Amino acid sequence: MQQNMEQAQHILKTTFGYDAFRHHQADIIEAIINGQDVLTLMPTGGGKSICYQLPALIRPGTAIVVSPLIALMQDQVDALMQLGIKAAFLNSTLKIGEQRLIEEQFRNGAYDLIYMAPERLLNEYTLNLIDQCDIALFAIDEAHCVAQWGHDFRKEYQQLSMLHERYPHVPRIALTATADQRTRNEIIEQLALQQARVFINSFDRPNIHYAINDVGSGRDELWKFLQQNHPNDAGIVYCLSRKNVDTTAEWLNKKGRAALPYHAGLTQDIRQNNQQRFLREDGLIIVATIAFGMGIDKPDVRFVAHLNLPKNIESYYQETGRAGRDGLPSNAWMNYGLKDVINLRLFTQNSDADELFKRMMLQKTDAMLGLCELTSCRRQAVLSYFGEELAESCGNCDNCINPPETWDATIATQKILSCIYRTQERFGTQYIIDILLGKDDERIKANSHDQLSTFNIGTEHSSPEWRGIFRQLVAHGYLTTDVEGYGVLKLTEKAWPLLKRSKTPHTVMLRELNKASKVIRSKSSRSKRKIDLNLSTHDQDLFEQLRLLRSELAKDQNVPPYVIFPDKTLVEMAMNKPSNEDQMLEISGIGAVKFKRYGEAFLKELKQHQ
Ligand code: ADP
Ligand code: ZN
Repeated sequence: MQQNMEQAQHILKTTFGYDAFRHHQADIIEAIINGQDVLTLMPTGGGKSICYQLPALIRPGTAIVVSPLIALMQDQVDALMQLGIKAAFLNSTLKIGEQRLIEEQFRNGAYDLIYMAPERLLNEYTLNLIDQCDIALFAIDEAHCVAQWGHDFRKEYQQLSMLHERYPHVPRIALTATADQRTRNEIIEQLALQQARVFINSFDRPNIHYAINDVGSGRDELWKFLQQNHPNDAGIVYCLSRKNVDTTAEWLNKKGRAALPYHAGLTQDIRQNNQQRFLREDGLIIVATIAFGMGIDKPDVRFVAHLNLPKNIESYYQETGRAGRDGLPSNAWMNYGLKDVINLRLFTQNSDADELFKRMMLQKTDAMLGLCELTSCRRQAVLSYFGEELAESCGNCDNCINPPETWDATIATQKILSCIYRTQERFGTQYIIDILLGKDDERIKANSHDQLSTFNIGTEHSSPEWRGIFRQLVAHGYLTTDVEGYGVLKLTEKAWPLLKRSKTPHTVMLRELNKASKVIRSKSSRSKRKIDLNLSTHDQDLFEQLRLLRSELAKDQNVPPYVIFPDKTLVEMAMNKPSNEDQMLEISGIGAVKFKRYGEAFLKELKQHQ
């Protein structure tokens, strides 16, 4: 046993180029090598892959990696081959001849790892093939796909429990970055992992800066954010509708940023092509619906921006989690408005799900809106939602860096509620605001609403300010909208005590209005820089040169640049300036095979900058 782990440690250094295991990696790897089943929950970028790749190299036979992401298998296999590991995939992109060849090699034990989608694996032909091969382990990636209520549900995943029955002596490892308890239980249940050892990692992503703001119009704010923080960086912009995706991508291109759309309305070819370009080119922006992202292994996504509210905190965390897998500073940024809040509530109210499910969705919606309107640390709130306590506020979110002020909005709230009540809950936001502001308006006159006691009693706030108050009241559940979607405002249970001036005094505290929230990262002193990597100017130039070299090498082989070396490795090179093989092997991410392939080229480049 001891010997196995020594061997694992050795491979970690010589093949992967890393000095030490992270988190539970060592325990997980040891369990698998010893033939135990494992369930691993680790945030994106936590280092899940090594948990099955390393045992695959130590246990006799081939490891089968089950993944739903056919489009990414090529890159995954390329990345392994760059490390000198023998790997292949079996999927529908292969020609029949290629497929037969791989099957033949598989039978001969030529591979350490082989990737396939669940439907391929479950097919009788493949199972027969597997029967003839020596199998080291099964790795079930993106294991949350078995969860019926999750948004990545794949029916075939549920049949994977048969692996346990058919190959009882082959250890299985299920991996996911989804944190919630319900999904975890479903995975254990569906994959028959009751005996498995469970390793749960902290879900904190300390390198991601969270900011959620409600000022201005989404696009203008996005543009400011990009100019200030990411003038050249790769990132993802999420929008709700396909149309919005298309127009936003177009708008970014007009503004001079290379941006590509991605949504389910585009043909498979276009989607595939846009995804490939995102992975292979530096500094590209993908504008996408939530159809984009699962399993995207690109480690240097520097920002994820939301122009609409995600459905729930699970989605928010999963989507923002695609930033900064390499551990370098990254931004999760969101802008939202009244319309978003109303739409999100409507979406839940109108779903034709059964009552129990609907109630659950409503709770999730509330939690998401609560996160938006929060005035304390965002990270603490998100982690606590996933059942994890962060003892101190994080110092790396908008609320920590620039604490929002709150104000007593009780009177303003009462004015709104009263005005809605007096107009019989039949009107939308703008109409109510116009009454509060005493607007000279035909419709108001025709309805005799200029006679109301609430007419012209709200001039202390501007129209946009009132909208902000409405949004917060909807978010806090004092107001709701009609289920038909006309935007007619209704009072909720929670509103009545305020309206009736109940005996129990009740104050409504809201976020200060229209305070231009600073969305800039904490360490943004050199705001012109794409990203603050803590490099001196000279080293930063060197880093850019190394990046160029990497780009050329990647292009020659048609692989993504990060498959050659991640940014982190280049940053270390630029800082430490190794000048020989030994020093080069000290750099994180450079093992023997990588050195043999690229060591000289990078040493040469480094020499020129001494
Ligand atoms: P996940 O699949 O959990 O999102 P990956 O397996 O892609 O994460 O790992 C994220 C990054 O961290 C990769 O660049 C990987 O090579 C690196 N990494 C993994 N384990 C270690 C380690 N022990 N030390 C240093 N870097 C590591
Ligand atoms: Zn914080």
